[in-house]
Order: sequence, then structure tokens, then C-alpha cells
Amino acid sequence: MQAEGLVAEEIEAGYGKVQVLWGISASVASGESVVLLGANGAGKTTLLRVLIGLLPARQGRIWLNGEEITHARPDRRVRSGLAYMSELGVFGGLTIEENLLIGGQFLPAARLRRSMAKLYEIFPVLAERRRALASSLSGGERKMLGIAKALAAEPKVLMMDEPSAGLSPLFVSEVVRTLKQLREGALAMLIAEQNIAFLDLADRVYTLEGGRVRFEGTVAAMHADNALHRSYFGLS
Ligand code: ATP
Repeated sequence: MQAEGLVAEEIEAGYGKVQVLWGISASVASGESVVLLGANGAGKTTLLRVLIGLLPARQGRIWLNGEEITHARPDRRVRSGLAYMSELGVFGGLTIEENLLIGGQFLPAARLRRSMAKLYEIFPVLAERRRALASSLSGGERKMLGIAKALAAEPKVLMMDEPSAGLSPLFVSEVVRTLKQLREGALAMLIAEQNIAFLDLADRVYTLEGGRVRFEGTVAAMHADNALHRSYFGLS
């Protein structure tokens, strides 16, 4: 078992009588960026919800930095270094600063202040408007705030659910550029996406189809597989 990072083994999960995930094994190591690629309904959100503890795993086990967290509550997972940005990401009725304070709520006060100062350096647009309501931000800026809010907790593993959702192609490239900057250092990222622009960031990719992993490997290996290439890259 890898000591640093997140490991899921043979995860099964669903809603009521409906099973959605069928034995998913996946991992992201310290410093690694992994993209979970899949179409609508493939099970990406369901898997992230299981990993953060919002939905129970019916089968399988999960480890974070070598510690088993399969049955831990979400707040325990966050305290242990896991962060989750949902598709919605931020609270529109709260200010930028309040959103960041919520993201970092489990940190001791002095560390939280340092964490926020660092985030305002990375995201100057948020610093300028820290007292503005999150709802006043543009779609792209709101996504930046969602990422910053998740980072406020100083996580070791950052999970993001479709950071491209609702964004124009221009903003998508901006989000990809920002995430590239975050790749330096030990932060591990697990990005659930259907937009292949995010493959630029990927050290490794999992493709998810019908709640099962179909492929695991590098982007180069995806290109080398004719069927996968056709499915995900079309004629490009
Ligand atoms: P999307 O990109 O559309 O968010 P996804 O890959 O994240 O897709 P999920 O949201 O995990 O996929 O959904 C996987 C399957 O689980 C779908 O068939 C969906 O209809 C079903 N599902 C999701 N949430 C629920 C729920 N609360 N109750 C019942 N079924 C659900």
C-alpha cells in the first residue's frame, strides 16, 4: 500500500437498489495528477462522493496516507488531508473571504491566516474582491474560488468534480493553467472530467464507463490504443 496519497480498492456503491460503481480500484500518489475521464453518468461524481465519505462504499476499502478511512466521516477525511470541490463549489450568498474561511475551518487560526495569505497571492483576483459576494464573480472566477476554497484546508489530496462545468473554452484553459501551477510540490490531484483539455495535466488517466474502469495508464498509452483514441479524441 502506498504510504502517501489516496488508494481505493474494489469500490462498489449506488443509490437504493441501483448499483452505480462496480469494483473500482484507483489511486493517486503524492505529487501526482490523475484525471478520471468519463461521459455523463459514468459514475465520476458517485466515486468522488464515496471517496470523501458523503456516500458509503458497499464494498471495498479506501486509504489516505496509509490510514484506512473507508468508514470515516467526511470531516475526519478533510482533517486528514483530503479536499473535495463539488461541481457547485462555492456558496454564492457568502463573500469570497467567508468561502475561504469555510474551506479552512479545521485549521488552527494562525495556520488558516497563512493559508489564506498564500491563496490571495496565487489568486490576486480573489484578494482584490475579498469582501464581494461569491455570486458577483464570473463563472471562471467562481471556479477559481472553488479551487481556492478547497485548497484553504491545505490538503494533501485535492479532488475536483468537473472543474470545467459551465465554463466557456477560454475559462477552461484558464482553469487548466491554474491547476498546472498547483502541480508543483507534493499536492496530489484527482480531477473528474469529461473535457479532454484536462488531459494536459494528467500524469495518469482512468477512463470510467458504466461504473467500471475501462483503461488505466498515461495519455500516450491512450493515444496508442486505437479504440480509446477514437472514443475520446475523435478525429483529432
Ligand atoms: P455527470 O458528468 O453527469 O455528473 P457522472 O459520471 O458524475 O456524470 P454520476 O453523477 O456519478 O455520473 O451518476 C452515475 C449514475 O448514478 C447515473 O446513472 C445517475 O443517474 C445515477 N445517480 C446519480 N445520483 C443519483 C441519485 N441520487 N439517486 C439515484 N441515482 C443516481
